[in-house]
Amino acid sequence: MAERFKAPRGTFDVLPAGAPVRRRIEEVARGILEAAGYGRIEVPIFEDTELFARGVGESTDIVQKQMFTFEVQGGRSLTLRPEATASVCRAYLEHGMQKLAQPVKLWTDGPFFRHERPQAGRYRQFTQIDAESIGSDSPLVDAELILLAGDMIAELGVEGVRLRLGSLGTPAARAAYLEELREYLHSREDKLSEDVRARIDVNPLRAFDADDEGTRRVMDEAPTLLERLDREDGEHFDAVRKLLDRNGVSYEIDPTLVRGLDYYTRTVFEFECDRLGAQSGIGGGGRYDGLVEQLGGPPTPACGWALGVDRIALALEGGDGETERDGVFVVAEGDDRDSALALVTELRRAGIHADLDLAGRTVKGQMKHADRLGARHALILEGDGKAKLRDMSSGEEREVDPATVAETLSSP
Ligand code: AMP
Repeated sequence: MAERFKAPRGTFDVLPAGAPVRRRIEEVARGILEAAGYGRIEVPIFEDTELFARGVGESTDIVQKQMFTFEVQGGRSLTLRPEATASVCRAYLEHGMQKLAQPVKLWTDGPFFRHERPQAGRYRQFTQIDAESIGSDSPLVDAELILLAGDMIAELGVEGVRLRLGSLGTPAARAAYLEELREYLHSREDKLSEDVRARIDVNPLRAFDADDEGTRRVMDEAPTLLERLDREDGEHFDAVRKLLDRNGVSYEIDPTLVRGLDYYTRTVFEFECDRLGAQSGIGGGGRYDGLVEQLGGPPTPACGWALGVDRIALALEGGDGETERDGVFVVAEGDDRDSALALVTELRRAGIHADLDLAGRTVKGQMKHADRLGARHALILEGDGKAKLRDMSSGEEREVDPATVAETLSSP
């Protein structure tokens, strides 16, 4: 027998039973973002490799290890998008959006690709909802974005969520701080894990993420970037915090919050859900005031976030999955089987969720099937233009006229 195929490692199929929760996440996102003036943008699934190399940052794990890169005819190197921000900024510049009233608020969603080691909640193809607000340095922008993400999470009913907030400062303050941190780490090299030691010069901030006991002890005493913010960055951070406080958003200040992408400046944040395992981050983002310029545009402050649809779906699946019964299943036998299709079609055209037996089941089998499908009613055709409507939850039955049943079911 020929070998059967499986979905590639780190990918998964969304089967019909898994579709409603994902659709709901997307619908809630669209509702909230469009009501807040975010316009829908769609960007390609792949871009020039250089866009991500420059946009996401050469020293990041994403660019160094995780990109799905391929060459096309002519030797051009393309990459499946590992995130949305670089593409959205590229589109902002390509379409002259800096000439529009600022900030330009955009949102998108879809699949993203990172060649990570797969585990529960971590995939090589995953889905993000992404929001970007480009062209203003006001702390209102940061606060608005965080509020919108928080509202989405709340409306969806994800439980056990914490918001961690930090600030990375401007590039100059960060550079000075990084130098200080490198010196600090070098002076304690013997207490650090090998991993961390090897990366002191490349990316010393990663030391804060280390799990190893010795490194942790060193990091507990380490200077933090929050203590070294320059005046303007400190004021910006205070302003964002005040706005969040005023709007009833609770958060924890995390002076060690580092994100896996290089472009962040000032505000950074992450939403975590304690119902998930090791991969608990359900969304995150921050300000990236230097990115547009780095991609060849004018200096343009901006801020944005991405929420992970797959992880939010996982968090919601843990909740009570009780779904309401809906629609009608038409039960028929003998000659009535053929009229069932016409009736179901009429019901469907009236906007009613309707189904029928397509596999020659007995009446009893059809009732069982109606129950399994979660139908709210069964419409049992009894010949001679007679029918009974059964409430599948209570078992109550009443006589109905099949000719007017669409009306009966439509009226509340
Ligand atoms: P990031 O773009 O890394 O800031 O990630 C934003 C959110 O996307 C995370 O909080 C996750 O919820 C989700 N995410 C990122 N990478 C993955 C992945 N490999 N698998 C599943 N979800 C992911």
